[in-house]
Amino acid sequence: MHHFHLREEALYCEQQGLSALAAQYGTPLYVYSASSIRDNFCRLDTALAPLNHLICYAAKANSNLAILSLLAQLGSGFDIVSGGELYRVLQAGGRADRCTFAGVGKTRHEIEYALREGVYCFNVECEAELETINEIAGMLGKKAPIAIRINPDVDARTHRYISTGKSHNKFGIGLDRAEEVYARAALLPHLQIRGVQTHIGSQILDAQPFVEAICKLIPLVTRLRELYQIEFFSVGGGVGILYKEALESGSPDWWQKNTSSPLTLEKYAAELLPHLSSLGLKILFEPGRSLVGNAGVLIAQVVQVKQTPAKRFVIVDAGMNDLIRPALYESFHQVIPLKPSSVTPGDLADLVGPVCESGDFFLQDVALPELQPGDYIALMSAGAYGFVMSSRYNSRPLVAEVLVEGSHSFLVREREQWADLIRGEHLAI
Ligand SMILES: *Cc1c(COP(=O)(O)O)cnc(C)c1O
Repeated sequence: MHHFHLREEALYCEQQGLSALAAQYGTPLYVYSASSIRDNFCRLDTALAPLNHLICYAAKANSNLAILSLLAQLGSGFDIVSGGELYRVLQAGGRADRCTFAGVGKTRHEIEYALREGVYCFNVECEAELETINEIAGMLGKKAPIAIRINPDVDARTHRYISTGKSHNKFGIGLDRAEEVYARAALLPHLQIRGVQTHIGSQILDAQPFVEAICKLIPLVTRLRELYQIEFFSVGGGVGILYKEALESGSPDWWQKNTSSPLTLEKYAAELLPHLSSLGLKILFEPGRSLVGNAGVLIAQVVQVKQTPAKRFVIVDAGMNDLIRPALYESFHQVIPLKPSSVTPGDLADLVGPVCESGDFFLQDVALPELQPGDYIALMSAGAYGFVMSSRYNSRPLVAEVLVEGSHSFLVREREQWADLIRGEHLAI
């Protein structure tokens, strides 16, 4: 479900025309729909209502303050992977006691900060980390709440860069060693065993790997509840969204038709619920992409159209530094021209950015409509792992972000200027 739609062949975010936003705020521009995020959260929360549960939004998917604040107001908790993310969540009005702190390389400084702020739980990824957290908690005169991330060794059948639940991945502790590591944690005086956690990967469009991971962990979870009175089981995130689909259809109204993913949030909840409801534990969910992915687009402007003997290149002002997913994960974003009348597909072309890398492309060999310099396009479903992964490569300032609610738009991140590029840099000699 999202609130981007075509009206008289022009693309809208809620009640706001995207061309008008591009003209007002400039490009490249990330635009997010507040109603889409709210709907996604509420749909998942409602579908999970039969369970004692907490949704901990994975802040890394999109950590703009306005989005964290929107989710905090809906009662969301947060899954964080750095001290910086905890800082953001707190600045946005989120509660530390609803934060789980994940990640394989938490530094001592980050652990100390999270302990002082009182996070709900540290999701621990290796034995040595238990010792580190125990020692820091002892120094601060606190007990650190912990869960151990268990790697269930299931195949999430997703891109290899975003698969995390196989035994060859760097994440978590193998099921075979889980009880032993919990027993060690129980002996450490400044730790309090609070739960168990797993997360198998991202952009998963089939419920089966989730169910498989949960079923593999249930005997362990039941044992841990008896042994240590754990209070939660976190099943991680990873529900995918639709990126592709409609490209082939060619019809201008396809976007409205293809909004249901093979794994909707309702279906995901319905498939998992039977396995989780009898555990007698609080169940944590850590969705990132599925809450914000289809709630955002990246608008770019055509700078140049270059015809070579081999190909037509449509060059836009957004590059891989602004949206790295195609270059990093070979992922696909649907492109929609914002000019009405330019929706009919033309000759095969590449849609590329201005960055000096051959990997700087958004589409290759697709039937792009006729586009002229000055035209706007939208790269759809760019709300997750979009802006947050951007960089200043090629000395390109970070772009602006806008949040739309109904007919209102809010600048939630200012566009950087050239002066921002050299802030903090010093001449050496
Ligand atoms: C990235 C991550 C998530 C969120 O994954 P999505 O695919 O965006 O839902 C959840 N939990 C952990 C531990 C993660 O690292």
